[in-house]
Amino acid sequence: MTFDRVLVANRGEIALRVMRACRELDVKTVAVYSEADADAMHVAFADEAVCIGPAAPSLSYLNQSALLFAARATHAQAIHPGYGFLSENAQFAQRVQDMGMRFIGPAPDAIRTMGDKVAAKRAMLAAGVPCVPGPDTSLSDDTGETLAAARAIGFPVIVKAAGGGGGRGMRVVEREADLLDAVAVTREEARRAFGKPELYIEKFLQQPRHIEIQVLCDAHGTALWLGSRDCSMQRRHQKILEEAPAPGIDARQLKAVGERCVEACRRIDYRGAGTFEFLYENGEFFFIEMNTRLQVEHPVTEETAGIDIVKAQIRIAQGLPLGMTQEDVSCTGHAFECRINAEDPFTFLPSPGRVETWIAPGGQGIRVDSHMHAGARVAPYYDSMIGKIIARGKDRDEALAKMRVALDGLQVGGVKTNLPLHQALLRDAGFIAGGVDIHYLEKWLRQRS
Ligand code: ADP
Repeated sequence: MTFDRVLVANRGEIALRVMRACRELDVKTVAVYSEADADAMHVAFADEAVCIGPAAPSLSYLNQSALLFAARATHAQAIHPGYGFLSENAQFAQRVQDMGMRFIGPAPDAIRTMGDKVAAKRAMLAAGVPCVPGPDTSLSDDTGETLAAARAIGFPVIVKAAGGGGGRGMRVVEREADLLDAVAVTREEARRAFGKPELYIEKFLQQPRHIEIQVLCDAHGTALWLGSRDCSMQRRHQKILEEAPAPGIDARQLKAVGERCVEACRRIDYRGAGTFEFLYENGEFFFIEMNTRLQVEHPVTEETAGIDIVKAQIRIAQGLPLGMTQEDVSCTGHAFECRINAEDPFTFLPSPGRVETWIAPGGQGIRVDSHMHAGARVAPYYDSMIGKIIARGKDRDEALAKMRVALDGLQVGGVKTNLPLHQALLRDAGFIAGGVDIHYLEKWLRQRS
């Protein structure tokens, strides 16, 4: 099924990113927007735009009926969900499909399976993907069994909600005496936050890195992996600075894990773009979850693999073959991405308001994915990310140098941003050396305060 009109069910930089890809493919675009976004750049960029409700996300960007109605009214044949909002909502994907449209993403069943972290883990183990040690079943109500499972793993362990997301619904347990209380509290949280009380337990890794593998699969049996990303620079489980490839990891070891990911995709008949997230510790990979959508950090992979992931998603949804094999994938050079947020650089308090100045950097190897301009408003209702600066170089040092120059050239006035934090990190010896663990940034921030 080919289509010539796509509704983009998102806002901000990612809505623009998706619409640019559509336009390159000669596909018309429909924007949706909340009342707070009437003047937003994605609305001006689109061929058509529909207001879908008030500012609150639950009444607009998460309002399935309003989105489906807008798609119907504008004769869109497909919906791209972007990231966040409804991008991993199996029910929405199903409703899009039931209305005779295409959801630009995997099949609802694949979204559902991977959204259940226990089912995901089981599918990965079956495909030979290495997982964090622990049972591939959810915890029963039998306290004896729970204690036995934790003892078999060895403390510390982490209790996690099967339906969890966004870094919520998990609890680290250091000692056996605390286990049963932790399970009870986490179960109640999971029931309330995710409507799903199922929990599972696994080994708590103390100093891992966060490494991920990007995959792309068509409906004709071709499944490719596009190299690795390192997203260890995080605060409260939020990534802020990413790079591709993950530095200091043996290419053969990466290839082995990439091949396991692709094998898993074939087994579950996965279609579209996806990401396998791993913790990496003491030279070993441990799968934690799969994201069945486009990710914020996809540009670092695009810049090193030379593949437009969003155009590929659209083509795959049209039923077209990828038209390449794994041998054709060659990742070269190095890329970084800095997420620019409208927030205080050190207290992290959001800083919404009117952007008085926006002067973006440029030059060879620099890419700016942003919906900002002088006069733009950063609304308090949504994500504080106002743009991403991406720098590509022939190697890590060159990409780093380009990023430093780019950040020094970025000028934002009117709202506070985390630019000073990025500038400091890019001059930090630990980061420059490469391969920091997921606790690095929080420790670094504590030492400075
Ligand atoms: P979410 O879907 O909420 O993002 P993940 O399973 O991806 O949940 O875990 C989020 C973060 O929690 C990881 O990036 C890591 O920092 C931490 N984490 C999760 N599982 C473990 C583990 N077994 N050991 C150590 N840290 C973990």
